[in-house]
Amino acid sequence: MTKLDSTKKAPLIKAERTSIRLFTTLVFISSAVLAILVFLIVSNQARNAALELQKKSLSRVISVATDGVLTDLRDELTVIGNSLQHRPEIRQTLKEFYKNGNSSSLVAQLDDPLVNGYVGAVDIELVKLRIYNKDYRFIAESSRGMKGLKKNLPEFISTKAKVREGANSLMTLGGLWTDNNSKTTLYSLLLPIGGFKALGYIEVIINPVFNLIEVGKLTQKPLTIYSMKGEKIEDYSPINNLNKLTLEEIEYTLIGDDNKNAFRMVLLDDVSEFNQEMGITRITAIASFASLTIVAILIVLSLMNRFLFKPIQHMTKQMQRVTDGELSIKVDDRGLKDFHDLALNFNTMRKMVENSMQTLEQMSLKDPLTGIGNRRIFDQTLKHEWLNYMRNGKPLSLIIFDIDFFKQFNDLYGHQKGDKCIQQVAQVISKAIYRPSDIACRYGGEEFTLILPDTTLEGALYIAGLVRQLIDELRIPHRKSLVSDFITLSMGIATTPLEGVDSAEELIKAADTALYLAKEKGRNQVRTTKD
Ligand code: GH3
Ligand code: MG
Ligand code: MG
Repeated sequence: MTKLDSTKKAPLIKAERTSIRLFTTLVFISSAVLAILVFLIVSNQARNAALELQKKSLSRVISVATDGVLTDLRDELTVIGNSLQHRPEIRQTLKEFYKNGNSSSLVAQLDDPLVNGYVGAVDIELVKLRIYNKDYRFIAESSRGMKGLKKNLPEFISTKAKVREGANSLMTLGGLWTDNNSKTTLYSLLLPIGGFKALGYIEVIINPVFNLIEVGKLTQKPLTIYSMKGEKIEDYSPINNLNKLTLEEIEYTLIGDDNKNAFRMVLLDDVSEFNQEMGITRITAIASFASLTIVAILIVLSLMNRFLFKPIQHMTKQMQRVTDGELSIKVDDRGLKDFHDLALNFNTMRKMVENSMQTLEQMSLKDPLTGIGNRRIFDQTLKHEWLNYMRNGKPLSLIIFDIDFFKQFNDLYGHQKGDKCIQQVAQVISKAIYRPSDIACRYGGEEFTLILPDTTLEGALYIAGLVRQLIDELRIPHRKSLVSDFITLSMGIATTPLEGVDSAEELIKAADTALYLAKEKGRNQVRTTKD
């Protein structure tokens, strides 16, 4: 049992110790914290989306810059190719080749620009120069430059070239392509040799990486170019101290004119500025959101305070006073419907309790058999009236009545009749008094009292006589009475001031002595302390 109990966890918040105000405030604060958390997550996602967008637009920038670089390259190669094919030496040597089939002079001609570098073409990396006949068949190539290239036109150029007709065959053709053997990506441009009457074609092959790295310079951002095999070919870094933490990689795959992936270009974008701006936006948004939430909570709390918390507090205080005994306090029922209903119900219950209390109180003061005051009310009243007498000195009279031979009455007629008789006697005694200050009580058994404030002995004797007369008129038969055929009373009267009587108790004793005397002297009579 104890083991079970020890495993029970104590609740975090004890409901009965938590006020609605505290509970509501806690709920509101938790909701606000939750809302701010959700807001943080959402704003983080917004930041990532914005970053993705920035990366996409930078990727587009790379694409446009690359296109620009390749267009410039083509223009450059057109200039180079044109000036080469214009060389009289090349045209002459080609014509001689057609006659004697010896290509060695052509090779020497083609090697010349590669050996000396090409004047006016410093921004390119020449890889190979090749000559083809009018049917695009390979004739010769420079012996210098890159080795191992297949001795034919790149497929995509040859396909395009062979379908050309007329003047179209004099136009330049070129593009980016990847050599299958070496997996090297190159750029080729094919131009006719000999103007309108083409003698053949010259192909200028270059390594485009040297030019493509320009993209980095154009964008002023670090750029690395990788081959599709994953080797790093070239890189450009304009800034030395790069903060690696704020760098974002933007990848761009350059697709060749042969539809093969040519290069993987990785641009590094410093997002510190973006982060900073995003940070400011987030802080501003969170601050406004949090302050709005707080203002909203404060407004709601103050409304709740006005319509909920305060009325509850007020009502609780009033209810507390009622339960502390102030039964006459009516709980304020103005307020929201629920409070109004609660207050109405409480007030109804309070009224019921008040009534019950009054009944109980009356019950505790009344003698249940006769309905006149009981011994308690007799004691209280006499004490009270004694004090009054002490203060104002007005005579205070006390009469004690006792039914004569009542034991015999009971024995003869039975207890029920006896009770009935007691009730009738009590009624007669209370009928005999008329002042509001006069009080009739049942002293005990078949004994009764009358407290008569501001009443002289004569007055008391008059009342006693009245009681006797009324009892006589009742004519309750009592065959066993030795003094009459009907019920009779003996009475003892004591009236202040009295020698030797200084308290209420002594007044009772005095009246009792008078009563004893009445009994002794034959019953059915009134005696006073003077007798
Ligand atoms: P005395 O003339 O000397 O007063 O004689 P008594 O018989 O009246 O006096 P005693 O005190 O000897 O008897 C009182 C009787 O009153 C005893 C009891 O049977 C009866 N009595 C007391 N209280 C009640 C009551 O509430 N109902 C009934 N029926 N009888 C009661
Ligand atoms: Mg008696
Ligand atoms: Mg008696």
